[in-house]
Amino acid sequence: MINVTQSSLPPFEEYCDEIKQLWSSHWLTNMGEKHKLLQNQLEQYLKVKHVTLYTNGHLALEGALSVLDLKKGGEVITTPFTFASTTHAIVRSGFVPVFCDIKEADYTIDPEKIESLINENTVAILPVHVYGNLCDVDAIEKIAQKYHLKVLYDAAHAFGVQKNGVGVAGFGDMSMFSFHATKVFNTIEGGAVCFNDDQYIQVMNDMKNFGIRGTESCRYVGGNAKMNEFQASMGICNLRYIDQWIIQRKRVLDRYMDRLSGIKGIKLNTPRKDLKPNYAYFPVVFDGYQYTRDEITEKLQTLNIRARKYFYPLTCDFECYQDRFFYRDNSIPVARHIAERVLTLPIYPELEDSVIDLICDTIMM
Ligand SMILES: *Cc1c(COP(=O)(O)O)cnc(C)c1O
Repeated sequence: MINVTQSSLPPFEEYCDEIKQLWSSHWLTNMGEKHKLLQNQLEQYLKVKHVTLYTNGHLALEGALSVLDLKKGGEVITTPFTFASTTHAIVRSGFVPVFCDIKEADYTIDPEKIESLINENTVAILPVHVYGNLCDVDAIEKIAQKYHLKVLYDAAHAFGVQKNGVGVAGFGDMSMFSFHATKVFNTIEGGAVCFNDDQYIQVMNDMKNFGIRGTESCRYVGGNAKMNEFQASMGICNLRYIDQWIIQRKRVLDRYMDRLSGIKGIKLNTPRKDLKPNYAYFPVVFDGYQYTRDEITEKLQTLNIRARKYFYPLTCDFECYQDRFFYRDNSIPVARHIAERVLTLPIYPELEDSVIDLICDTIMM
């Protein structure tokens, strides 16, 4: 069976070596040596001043929302073309998601449609770097400054992506990364919040450990979302291979591009020239093609190839949100159009050329 992705692992012995020290220190979690080392390495790699490590990306997102000093019940402008986590984090944190449409070109939030959604209840913008495509960060920054809004990026897809040599982790007030097993870089489960502003570092670190500071004071009503030493060890090992894995992903992308570009009704996602991409996903939009997206999905499924409809359904259409929100004017036509037609094809470092060819042949047959 071929899945849409396959978790990347370091050599087995290398991970064993890394965790061996834990048997002498008996320090398994609570910001130990591995946690510190991975944090420092990620600050270098992601080119950002502060990295706070979390047990998963979703709790990282909720953690970020909890320290940005946003008025409870306020509205957060976001997009429905994302993973459940983005919208759930907003709702679970006591805010109201307001859904903005996406751009046809790269599936990220359309900055031209943000301003009409802003009112006196708006507190923040939470855009998503979908498939590792960078949002229009400059336009978003301008709007945020004009209306004094906080900006938190869901960068779960954008590990290692750079714009003209600048790491994506530094855009907005904060950025969240996911290190889930299925992501480009993984710590089994894991995540991080990144930012350059010193004012957040202490509170972020305290909040993921019950709000405890030192041994005898508890400053905040925090939760528990710490990354443990086994997760951090996996991250330390995987980070040694990440650049070579990204190069191997590019090989897969190039082969798909060769086979599928220039075909009527098939739209591919071309990385922008000013970006250093991570090739996290290979989305294809079937629009006016001889087969529909759902027909292609089934054709592949009969060969045991599991492409995935990222993202369908839109989060605003989830059962749990029926009758709970309104999206003004229902103005998300592009998001709806893409969600009905997009399919992400398998991409991971070890994916063989013969399988890529089989997938392409199946799509074209
Ligand atoms: C994976 C993902 C998350 C959640 O990350 P976890 O580490 O799985 O909790 C959030 N947003 C997006 C867009 C994701 O793809």
